[in-house]
Amino acid sequence: MNIATTKTSSDRQTEVFHDDLTVPAKGGCRFCKTLLKHSVVDLGKSPLCESFLTRDQLFDPEPFYPLHAFVCDQCSLVQVEEYVSGEEIFGGEYAYFSSFSDSWLAHAKLFADQITERLGLDENSQVVELASNDGYLLKNFIEKGIPALGVEPADNVAAVAIEKGVPTVVKFFGVKTAKELVADGILADLMCANNVLAHVPDLNDFVGGMKIVLNPKGVITVEFPHLMRQIEGNQFDQICQEHYCYYSLHTLRQVFDHHGMTIFDVDELTTHGGSLRVYIRHKEDQSKPVSENVTRIHQSELEKGYDKLGVYQAFAEQVRETKRQFLEFLIQAKREGKQVVGYGAPGKANTLLNYCGVRTDFIDYTVDRNPYKHYKYLPGTHIPVFPTDQIEHTKPDYIVIMPWNLKEEISAQLEYTRKWGAKLIVAIPELTVF
Ligand SMILES: [Zn+2]
Repeated sequence: MNIATTKTSSDRQTEVFHDDLTVPAKGGCRFCKTLLKHSVVDLGKSPLCESFLTRDQLFDPEPFYPLHAFVCDQCSLVQVEEYVSGEEIFGGEYAYFSSFSDSWLAHAKLFADQITERLGLDENSQVVELASNDGYLLKNFIEKGIPALGVEPADNVAAVAIEKGVPTVVKFFGVKTAKELVADGILADLMCANNVLAHVPDLNDFVGGMKIVLNPKGVITVEFPHLMRQIEGNQFDQICQEHYCYYSLHTLRQVFDHHGMTIFDVDELTTHGGSLRVYIRHKEDQSKPVSENVTRIHQSELEKGYDKLGVYQAFAEQVRETKRQFLEFLIQAKREGKQVVGYGAPGKANTLLNYCGVRTDFIDYTVDRNPYKHYKYLPGTHIPVFPTDQIEHTKPDYIVIMPWNLKEEISAQLEYTRKWGAKLIVAIPELTVF
């Protein structure tokens, strides 16, 4: 068809543009290999969200990658494409240390106490944690005299764990590492994988490895942000290059089933804006019946349509409205001559700020408790990161809490800023000044 004779040039532009949008992503679904062709949200291009820059690096070119989430029409797995390998992101140096959040440490300790009792773990048991970070969770088991082993790919983070007395293997986990562990006599009575499933580039290799290391009567616990809560809570800032996948219980049941395992229980958690903790066993292990919680939560996902496309397709407009609200607030504040700063420099801040195009023209600086990030700059937006006492020095009018999931904890820490009348803000789920 000769488009030029039947349409104006702007129509043609639109048509070409739409054609591009419906081009399927490069690869197939990470789980079932179906061609991906349904967009959830397109956040434009972003740098890696944990790649903090030194002052010298500000003058170098900076790579930006497409940040576009798709949903699989077969298994409903929401995913972004991999443009940078897991080795590049998580190997070597990595800036994320779990131990800098008080509430997260308390969460880990409580879990260790509960699961030790539930599974009757003792000095003859073996705990294995995948992506064990700086040993924040495993140290609780070691203090109880329960043997624990961490597997962590980032060597700077693993070094901190080893220093704390948490044995840690510096490796990426998958079938190969699993076989090596078993050859070394490691079989897990409890295997934990907290907030790592999102980061796994080869999902089937990772879950396949879990199956290999799990004792016949062992239990795996997996914590992950619940996709249903992410969408209902408008938490698009959790989408980043480092998070390849976003899970519903509906999808995860299919994944573990495919690998010969069964999700037999699930807890709903408040962490990371609403997470699930699933309990998994070998399919053959009939000693642990599937709980009513599993069917209830799965059913509620199905009732809300998380196995269909509509709910995913409605998400994009909700995200665009959040951008408009945030920018409207910032423009108004700056017109009034106010100083706006940030609190926290988590990965999710970088998704939000890059998507909204917010730089030092709106936010002068942010602060963080992690000294690894001090005097560095946020990727893409180049907003500087200072120690938290910077707030005391400049007495800003508005403080944007970037880790909105820790809003209560951080508001309490910032109580002293009320004496000069500072106001606190979160941008998600919707702009709130308080
Ligand atoms: Zn799929």
